[in-house]
Amino acid sequence: MFDLHILGTSGSRPTGTRSVSGNYLSTSDGNLIIDCGEGFQSRLIKHELDLKNNPIGIRARFSKIKVILLTHSHLDHCWGILPLLKTMQLDGRQQPLTIIAPSTPQAIEWAEKNYRETIPDNYDINPSDFAFLFKEWRNHINNSRKKIFKINWILIPINGQNSHDIPLQPIKGIKLTAIPTKHTVVSVAWLISSIEKPDRSVLISGDTKYNGTSFKKEILEKPVDILIHEATFTDELSEKAGEHGHSTALEAGKTASDINAQILGMVHFSPRINDLETVEIESRIYHNRSFACNDGDIFRVSNNGEIKLFRKYKNSWYEYDTQRT
Ligand SMILES: [Zn+2]
Ligand SMILES: [Zn+2]
Repeated sequence: MFDLHILGTSGSRPTGTRSVSGNYLSTSDGNLIIDCGEGFQSRLIKHELDLKNNPIGIRARFSKIKVILLTHSHLDHCWGILPLLKTMQLDGRQQPLTIIAPSTPQAIEWAEKNYRETIPDNYDINPSDFAFLFKEWRNHINNSRKKIFKINWILIPINGQNSHDIPLQPIKGIKLTAIPTKHTVVSVAWLISSIEKPDRSVLISGDTKYNGTSFKKEILEKPVDILIHEATFTDELSEKAGEHGHSTALEAGKTASDINAQILGMVHFSPRINDLETVEIESRIYHNRSFACNDGDIFRVSNNGEIKLFRKYKNSWYEYDTQRT
């Protein structure tokens, strides 16, 4: 049904063993990227090759990507996109690609009318909003002698805390919903669900400040199979987490429990955290089936809702026990 490949678990900057944010989701109807930090394409290409050379019945295919979803405009979540688009162009891609990101009604209006003009201080518009980045990226990618495939650039004007349906659903059979989250810039979690089997879904949050909850519970019509949630810090740094618009492992566990997620996968660890056991001990106070993810982890969600985790060891994968009964 869904194979979710976690290709970056470090927060803000890479470490020797972890890269910044980026996920690849394959579905029977089409494949997506959710966040695309620095160096994402190299990771995906290596991952694709490792899966090909060590067959476990799961593949990731660079050429099959239909949609890129972005959670917010911080560099560790989106800076890998231009090189990725360039490679697709060099590969002679013909298929259209859809890129969807959150913005604000104000930023979209300003970017339309006054693009490249300085934003006055009293305007609540972030100059790194996707409304501006999309224009820059578009100019950059179009400024080439080689013909570029069609890209649908879609901005979602986030207004309030309610979920936003996507005007044109780019993958038949899949429903995409943007759920606003609190962070230091406009930010969303992406709910990706099957239309035929609405019980099957994954919810991937970017950077998320916990404020009594990460998402309004009533927004989710059904419990999700997998919640991918950041856990930048552990509880001893909860104040710092709040100040910087992030969550702790404890808060990720509370959120997963609140929304009845089957499995919680935690990502975006501060390089300060070197003991991921503490992360899991904290989150499991509230949510038993929670796991600190590693780069290369693959979650497989079956039609019946059974979830398996394949964890990478050297260049291959083994099945990791997620039952925790
Ligand atoms: Zn981040
Ligand atoms: Zn961020």
